[in-house]
Amino acid sequence: MQAQLAPHVESGAVRHIRQTVRAVARENDQWRISGADGTSVLADILILATGHPPASRPSVFDNLDPPTASRVADVFAPNAFDGIEKSDPILVVGSGLTALDALSRLDAIGHEEEITLLSRSGLMPRPHAGGGFSPFGDFRSAELTSARKLLAKVRATVFNAQAQGIPWQSVFDALRQHAQELWQGLPMLERQKFLRRLRRWYDVHRYRMPPQATFALKKGIETGRVSVKRGDLVSITRDGNDLLAGIETHNGGTKVRCRRILLATGPEFRDYAAHQRFLLGMHRDGFIQSDALGLGLACDTAGHGVTVTGAPITSLFVAGPPARPAFGELTGVPEIATQVADIVDRIVRCCIRETRTIVINPSA
Ligand SMILES: Cc1cc2nc3c(=O)[nH]c(=O)nc-3n(C[C@H](O)[C@H](O)[C@H](O)COP(=O)(O)OP(=O)(O)OC[C@H]3O[C@@H](n4cnc5c(N)ncnc54)[C@H](O)[C@@H]3O)c2cc1C
Repeated sequence: MQAQLAPHVESGAVRHIRQTVRAVARENDQWRISGADGTSVLADILILATGHPPASRPSVFDNLDPPTASRVADVFAPNAFDGIEKSDPILVVGSGLTALDALSRLDAIGHEEEITLLSRSGLMPRPHAGGGFSPFGDFRSAELTSARKLLAKVRATVFNAQAQGIPWQSVFDALRQHAQELWQGLPMLERQKFLRRLRRWYDVHRYRMPPQATFALKKGIETGRVSVKRGDLVSITRDGNDLLAGIETHNGGTKVRCRRILLATGPEFRDYAAHQRFLLGMHRDGFIQSDALGLGLACDTAGHGVTVTGAPITSLFVAGPPARPAFGELTGVPEIATQVADIVDRIVRCCIRETRTIVINPSA
């Protein structure tokens, strides 16, 4: 991607400004984008492509004393793994792909002690299927306008696939291809139901673990070094040099002893417009709003940002993960690239001026 971009940066067609955006304001039908260093640029069209928000942080981490807080790190923080000893028991909060990433990194630094992966659902990403299978199933023609119908169709397709020796993973690969149309065909209430009841299941089948992670997890579980717990983290206390993590489970409470806690809770998309100062400012000015389902920024299927009164703004686009409210499935690079190509197409079409040739005949 960098290689593709380089000639355009060199020619000056693309200007890359390394700067944190602090404020965006409307000025004479243009957007004024102001950076942290006080400089600003004017733009006719603004695309918000701010990616994933930071990880959600359970409230139990809010009031920790500094020595305890220093033992807790977001796995994406630059120094999250610094100072971890081989013999430190670790609690990883989260059991998705980010948690598995943490597991691989702990393996890579020679960590040998117990690792507990904790999550509310206890669900873990499923493995990929071996062999070269193609997507299986057609989710286009069916009237899949409710979460229940969608689930029934997926189950039936998996059943069909397996009867032919095709793995369920092929069904989810087909489902992924049509996920945006399916999402757009679900009424709001059904979207809510999907998110409440099916999303976790969809995620673990859709975002599958890479072979290296499968190997690390399998080995860890077989040797007893890695365990997966289902529950809610409700307290963190000190016990000598250790931390005691209080976990509420469906059949009572339990404690996990550890020395370090790694946060792998995944990005917190709820109230997306509040996670950055300039987005909050745009929200206050009425240009954007977080969507009601907690998926990102309200936008339409053209990618236009939607104001607090619900009107799309033609000079404002939302691209990539924060545009999930309109697309549902918009995390993987292939889906993002398609959405961005569509936005570029729209911008090019609206910027091409109509040209007319008027022939002036001097002899007339
Ligand atoms: C651990 C992990 C593994 C993944 N693996 C895969 C994979 O294998 N396959 C796949 O398809 N997808 C994968 N994804 C998802 C994919 O990487 C992301 O969805 C994708 O990178 C999002 O691209 P983006 O350009 O929209 O956002 P990002 O890549 O997050 O870029 C956002 C940009 O906005 C900038 N920005 C934000 N706020 C400001 C501000 N105020 N001022 C200035 N700049 C700002 C940031 O600096 C950044 O450059 C993975 C994601 C993660 C987290």
